Amino acid sequence: MNDLSVITREFGDLSEWEKRPDFWLALPRDVVPFTRTLKEGTTRVIGRSAGGRDILAIEYGEKEPLDATTDNLHSCIASSIVPPDPTAIFPAAFFGTKRRRKPVVVLQGALHGSEFTGTVASLNLCRIIETGRDLRGKAWPRLQELARATRLCIIPWINVDGADRTPWAHHSNMPHPVAELITQGMAKDGRKYKYPAVKAICPIPPDTTAFMGTYYNDAGVNLQYDFCMPERQPETVAWMKYYLSEKPDGIVCWHCNAGSLIGPPGYYMPPGYQIEEARLAGAVRARLLREGLRAGRVSWAGLPGMGKPGIEQITAAFFVTGALSILCELPSGCREWYMSCDEMLDMGLLTIEEILFYAHTDGLRPYELWEKVRKQLDAPPRKA
Ligand SMILES: [Zn+2]
Repeated sequence: MNDLSVITREFGDLSEWEKRPDFWLALPRDVVPFTRTLKEGTTRVIGRSAGGRDILAIEYGEKEPLDATTDNLHSCIASSIVPPDPTAIFPAAFFGTKRRRKPVVVLQGALHGSEFTGTVASLNLCRIIETGRDLRGKAWPRLQELARATRLCIIPWINVDGADRTPWAHHSNMPHPVAELITQGMAKDGRKYKYPAVKAICPIPPDTTAFMGTYYNDAGVNLQYDFCMPERQPETVAWMKYYLSEKPDGIVCWHCNAGSLIGPPGYYMPPGYQIEEARLAGAVRARLLREGLRAGRVSWAGLPGMGKPGIEQITAAFFVTGALSILCELPSGCREWYMSCDEMLDMGLLTIEEILFYAHTDGLRPYELWEKVRKQLDAPPRKA
């Protein structure tokens, strides 16, 4: 089910993409040795994929304990009936009685195995946290300061099976039909699986597939739509357990397309969360435009999530944890919407910087202003 010749037979010599810039760390075989060079980050295995591969998380910043008594958010939300309050999403039994000082942010890479731009930016962030410079040697002092004041949990690939099946580390200047075939795959009868109609086949049957697209785990499941199934994939169980152990304020779910960036917010997110995500999306887009990058070239109106009454992994992460769960589609750099690896890394790092700035000022939790909450935390206790 991993016969690369079905791709090279159709498109010819693709050896150009065997080369990658040194800073473009994306494939598991390149990244695992890199994690061993990290001095401050803690790398742990948070689960195993359907194909038996390790799912890694790299953590920075002290973990502040919560005095929570349960991991069942919805039971807590239901524990009082009146008055009905749509903002009551932060019960003490689930989040603890005391607020943490640092924002907790998850950067979740490659749910679709070859959508690597967020993974590359997140791994460059590890080097920035430790040295102030990315893997090209470019200095990011503001990003370093923001990141060091945050608890960060970086998952290079939640779909490590798909990442490991990816033949080339980047899609910069790759014709989109090639990238689409790598991503979606091909059946043994020569039929190409086509986005988005292929989503009606779930799972993709491994037995009749010549090349399993990188979108899927080894069981052929698109993990984006696994949450509502009675028997979930091990990757889904892994993120659910890990995110509950962190109860993050925000989860950034990296994907790639032409670069539509953050949003649109999920249909079933509470209104406050939808507004918060839309505000953050505007802040990031404005920053990228100010920096001279070509941001937001795809309208939200044309995106599949817009207004569809469905639940995908991003919304599911909210339901499990109460976190602001953010879809961010960074560019893939394909020829039809070309971007160099350099530009894509800048875009990813600026996006992270702006998200962290937002987390430290407005805050990622809806219905409050974090700067105000923090002032109250810092105020000396009142004398009676
Ligand atoms: Zn995706």
